[in-house]
Amino acid sequence: MKEPLSRNPIRGPRSLLRQIREAMESGGPVQARLNEAVRIIARSMVAEVCSVYLRRGSGDLELFATEGLSAEAVHVTRLGPGEGLVGEIVRIGGPLSLSDAPHHPAFSYRPETGEDPYHAFLGVPLLRGGRAIGVLVVQNRTERVYADDEVEDLQIIAMVLAEMVAGGERLAEAALKDVEIAPHRPERLKGVRFAEGLAYGQVVLHEAPVAPEQLLSEDVPAEEARLKAALAALQTQIDQMMDGQHGLVGASFEVIESYRMFAHSRSWNRSLEEAVRSGLTAEAAVERVRSEHRATVGQARDPYLRERLHDLEDLNDRLLRHLTAEGDRVHRELPENAILIARNLGPADILEYDRARLKGILLEEGSVASHAGIVARALEIPCVGRLAGLRDRVNQGDPVIVDAEAGEAYLRPRPDVLDALKARMAVRAERRAEYLRLRETPAFTRDGAKITILMNAGLALDLDILAETGAEGIGLFRTEFQFMVAEELPRFNAQTQLYTRVLEAANGLPVTFRTLDLGGDKLLPYLDVEREDNPALGWRAIRMGLDRNGTLLKLQLRALIAATRGRELRVMFPLIASVEEFRAARALVDKEIAWAEKRGRPAPSLLRVGAMIEAPALVWHLDALLPMTDFVSIGTNDLMQYMFAADRGNPRVADRYDPLSPPALRALKMIQDACAESRTPVSVCGEMAGRPLEAFALIALGYDQLSMPPGGVGPVKQMVLSCDREAARRGFDSLLRGSAGSVRSEVETLARKLSVVT
Ligand code: PEP
Ligand code: MG
Repeated sequence: MKEPLSRNPIRGPRSLLRQIREAMESGGPVQARLNEAVRIIARSMVAEVCSVYLRRGSGDLELFATEGLSAEAVHVTRLGPGEGLVGEIVRIGGPLSLSDAPHHPAFSYRPETGEDPYHAFLGVPLLRGGRAIGVLVVQNRTERVYADDEVEDLQIIAMVLAEMVAGGERLAEAALKDVEIAPHRPERLKGVRFAEGLAYGQVVLHEAPVAPEQLLSEDVPAEEARLKAALAALQTQIDQMMDGQHGLVGASFEVIESYRMFAHSRSWNRSLEEAVRSGLTAEAAVERVRSEHRATVGQARDPYLRERLHDLEDLNDRLLRHLTAEGDRVHRELPENAILIARNLGPADILEYDRARLKGILLEEGSVASHAGIVARALEIPCVGRLAGLRDRVNQGDPVIVDAEAGEAYLRPRPDVLDALKARMAVRAERRAEYLRLRETPAFTRDGAKITILMNAGLALDLDILAETGAEGIGLFRTEFQFMVAEELPRFNAQTQLYTRVLEAANGLPVTFRTLDLGGDKLLPYLDVEREDNPALGWRAIRMGLDRNGTLLKLQLRALIAATRGRELRVMFPLIASVEEFRAARALVDKEIAWAEKRGRPAPSLLRVGAMIEAPALVWHLDALLPMTDFVSIGTNDLMQYMFAADRGNPRVADRYDPLSPPALRALKMIQDACAESRTPVSVCGEMAGRPLEAFALIALGYDQLSMPPGGVGPVKQMVLSCDREAARRGFDSLLRGSAGSVRSEVETLARKLSVVT
């Protein structure tokens, strides 16, 4: 039987809140106050049961106080993380209302509680700083449906209780000793390495929550006025921000416009006003409405909707900042050793922080190829991503370790873990010093073969490292990085300026510019590109460059020629899959040079135009391709991705194959042999070139030009200096004929046998 809502007519939510507050202010231990609170709530909400569960450090939820369930169950009944309906509420971070709870799949029956007769169930999380520290539940015997305003009332009460519990914990009450208001135990989270290195420091939350100081107010009109003013300020700010975004098109425009629409949304404004009218301060109202959004949108599977939740969170944070004295000033000042923590970071986010103080980055999401990963690698900031639940597990200022060798994070590490890390950091520093000493030493193998070690770069920032590494030039300059970290399409002048700066920083050393490699996983918010089912196989790189009459590519080539100002120009095209594509791209270079000359501008003193070998098809058409090129460079990241049909950005499949395998090594040998025969200079510029063992294999196959991330230059040079190339080549003959899927251990054995330092 379903019963309509029956509310106590004399007690509205405000009077209930007042009573709760009186119970809170009555002093005495939290346990007594919780006992009193559950009694008042049960009576006021005409519920037979009202219970509070609090989260212990172990993650268990413990029954702390109850009206209606068996008193013996208090401090005895515990539910493991995610267990039962209360565990479900913590998981979803929002309310759960059921008319027949025992039939819910998550229901977990605990005989000691005596809850058999209760069917209707309404539970809400006790939220503090966005984390659930417990659950508040009311239950009724009959199968009734709780009304929306009852759910809302209970959420407001839950906020008040959460503050009360936190206050008790601050006073170090014995009963709350192990209640987890904020995480405080050492923890280790496993993630994915985005940028190599080790770091130790203190947590800086990229989006620090602004906790409301006061939850209840007697002066409703004053709070209404504060809310109104803050909303108006927020809306003006968003409007101004959006008006500055000229040139947005397609999907990106819709996304941004929806953000603006939400800031103005009547229903959001109305929900906030109603929450204030119920007796909350404006700040508490924002938190209340925020938890509702989390509950509804947070459950969505659709990535687009989940992304929108991020927008909503952002708007809520902004509104809170308008309400507090801070306004919307964003803090970018950092403590001495800062470890930045975020869900994910956008194009320019990292660059806004003080590089000297930013020692490491930990992200909850992202991918190796994400903006954050790219910039972190370019700046050599250790970064680990995909750390599930990270933000829920740290507090501002907590000590943390970024172990971006193993792809892990240690939160509040134990002293022995920290000591071990410091020892590893010392070893790294020593090795670095050793590499620095090798900087001026030319890279010759023991049997006298000269190996050219070049560096990969992509931002003007990473050019500082060029001199430090001792690399002999830049073998791959990824021009799309400039586009990826910009808020809008870089125009001709901006491009020319960057290329000029790069050439000047290289100070006469050769620089090979790779034209835009956009598309695939490198999407730009301001470019109107349709979503593709298979972006890695889609409209990307040179395909995009040549379409639309090559406008994007033409402009880029023009900027490159302008920056060269009569010096040497080396340029190569990404993801060439057919000779026609290369021919068309090369023709564009010639056309742009003719265009410049016609205007009396200097043509490059030397022109070298190359193709990247990344599409496997080209490996069987090198006889046609090589005569058309001045050089080729092998993008092993993409070549391997396509050869093994394994998405390089997907950690579940990216590591399933080994480039040190007969098929990969044979393909690389075929390319090297064809280049040697036609005397075409060839380099390898994928990540494998920067790993000493893989670089050893490449040298054995005959390669003598390797371009790599800056961190690889020292270790690879050390390997080269210790290597006898002829002996390595002989050793590889049998490995190439191997029948196993990977010959890594054989390569290791060979390297050891030849005393090669890998
Ligand atoms: C490659 O694919 O190996 C390469 C060097 O290019 P990118 O990593 O930029 O795709
Ligand atoms: Mg590539």
